[in-house]
Amino acid sequence: VPLVYLHGHRQARYHAVWPVFIVGDDPATLTFTVAAGDSAFLPASESDDLVYGPLDPQEPRRQYVTATVRRRLHQAAFRERVLDAYRESCALCRLRHRELLDAAHIVADREPEGEPKVPNGLALCKLHHAAFDRFFLTVDPDYRILVRDDVLEEPDAPMLEHGLKRLHRERIHLPRRQELRPSPELLERRLEEFRSRGR
Ligand SMILES: [Zn+2]
Repeated sequence: VPLVYLHGHRQARYHAVWPVFIVGDDPATLTFTVAAGDSAFLPASESDDLVYGPLDPQEPRRQYVTATVRRRLHQAAFRERVLDAYRESCALCRLRHRELLDAAHIVADREPEGEPKVPNGLALCKLHHAAFDRFFLTVDPDYRILVRDDVLEEPDAPMLEHGLKRLHRERIHLPRRQELRPSPELLERRLEEFRSRGR
């Protein structure tokens, strides 16, 4: 039976995934196993018989779809937790519009240390997320913003001046709770990469 799975991020906030199927049940531990479905398992039109399956959780396509959904849910949860920690504002410029904010990874999620945990995240607006990802600027382990030399030397333009250059050596806005603040070790790793790319 196809189901809708509501993955809770925090109280009263859910991410919906469908269709999903229960493929395993372990009453002893009160747990069950969910596999995500995809359109390949849905009827082509409403007049078709509703036939799903057979659903084999070991099938490579099924494993792939389920892994993709799980990753998406983790990313959505990461975003929620990071935006919460930073009270829904950019750590660099304090922009407060949720639609314009992202949860940036300090160490990329393709690397082993790049876990989707709040201390590996920064709430950044779209401009500062792109600038951070592309090493226009970084944040050092003392939480100071460093802008790349060639950007600092670029002739003035209002957006560059106000949006990036002005931030050089400013302190970022931090979560109130110590344990949610960016990890200095991860910022140090980022700083090393920033320097190795310096022009
Ligand atoms: Zn910003």
